[in-house]
Amino acid sequence: MSLPALKPHTPSARPFLPYGRQVIEQDDIEAVCEVLQSDLLTTGPMIGRFEAALAETVNARHAVVCANGTAALYMAAHALGLGPGTKVIVPSITFLATASAPHLNGAEIVFADVDPSSGLMRPSDLAAAIARAGRAQAVFNVHLNGQCGAVEEIADLARTNGLRIVDDACHALGASFVTAGGVRKLVGENALSDMSIFSFHPVKAIAMGEGGAVTANDAEIAAALLRTRNHGMTRDPGEFSNLGDAFETEGCANPWYYELVEPGFNWRANDIQCALGLSQLAKLDRFLDCRRRLAAAYDELLAPYRPRLTPVARQRTCLPAWHLYAVQIDFASFGLTRAAVMRGLAAEGIGSQVHYFPLHRQRYYAERYGAVSLPGADRYYARALSLPYFASMTLNDAERVVGALRNILGL
Ligand SMILES: *Cc1c(COP(=O)(O)O)cnc(C)c1O
Repeated sequence: MSLPALKPHTPSARPFLPYGRQVIEQDDIEAVCEVLQSDLLTTGPMIGRFEAALAETVNARHAVVCANGTAALYMAAHALGLGPGTKVIVPSITFLATASAPHLNGAEIVFADVDPSSGLMRPSDLAAAIARAGRAQAVFNVHLNGQCGAVEEIADLARTNGLRIVDDACHALGASFVTAGGVRKLVGENALSDMSIFSFHPVKAIAMGEGGAVTANDAEIAAALLRTRNHGMTRDPGEFSNLGDAFETEGCANPWYYELVEPGFNWRANDIQCALGLSQLAKLDRFLDCRRRLAAAYDELLAPYRPRLTPVARQRTCLPAWHLYAVQIDFASFGLTRAAVMRGLAAEGIGSQVHYFPLHRQRYYAERYGAVSLPGADRYYARALSLPYFASMTLNDAERVVGALRNILGL
């Protein structure tokens, strides 16, 4: 019996360009290997070190790391008590998890429209959603593509209507905005919100394999997040209520004792993930710089093709941390479907993606809530396309993408 002949490895001159990917360097690998050779693979020292570094990076008092961004959203919803009988407003253009997380806690979701040119929820969209909801308890705002919109007006409106604010900043690690008073605030420091959510999935700004975090400034919220991350249990003697069992002897808590406050899941991140996250976080500025230069190159290369092909509208007060390079294309004006354009790009070894199918039209929500008219979200979705975009992409790669796009669209 003979083994099949090995195919000779011919390195392709034109490697496949995915729409997004991680950048892993030798020191990232070494950081992970060090944990693998250490005593603790989980609940070890890397957890706190990563949390401290993240809190410092975004200027927040508390950071709680967890298994992924979805878990972070769930923990945030849980910490705010967004359970049965509550309503949460979510812009329709976002990933499933922004709505699934509060909904799985028992909240009903009221979808808000977005600006068709940026995909961001406008104050008027929030006002309309509040009116439709009657009364809502929270808004999960989304910094789509790594950009923030009219955050001050949205915060004013939310506070006036008694809404808590959670920023889904999974796209926006490293972004900032300038207030009307001229003060720069980092996304994640929660100057105007209660909590911010981050994801460290490999396509996001930094990679952990899987990973997520919540940042907050309120100590009680932080304690609730820690409990929700870890089975809904507490080991803090100050929180024990079953005193006879907790303090059997000597007036100090029994060393084995923990108390279940309410049943929960295990949403911890482990030390392997956090070591990678810590190593990657140190590179955030460099990665952001690469991404910003790449966005500027794309902007310049695509400038001649406006308005039929336009990058998403830029917000005046925001210094974005572009997670995606998203363009709006008037596909009908080219006589092409989006699927045909994506297949044409794929044939050239170029990945692309659509962010996102509007949540108000997702099967589950459409069945649950019936038809809702959100024309801004529909229009944004109809024209959306995300082009390859990651920190190790070169300017030549961007030229190759735009060249292929020009050929396919006949520009
Ligand atoms: C990635 C992402 C999430 C979920 O993060 P995971 O780490 O993949 O669970 C949530 N919201 C938005 C906007 C995202 O992009």
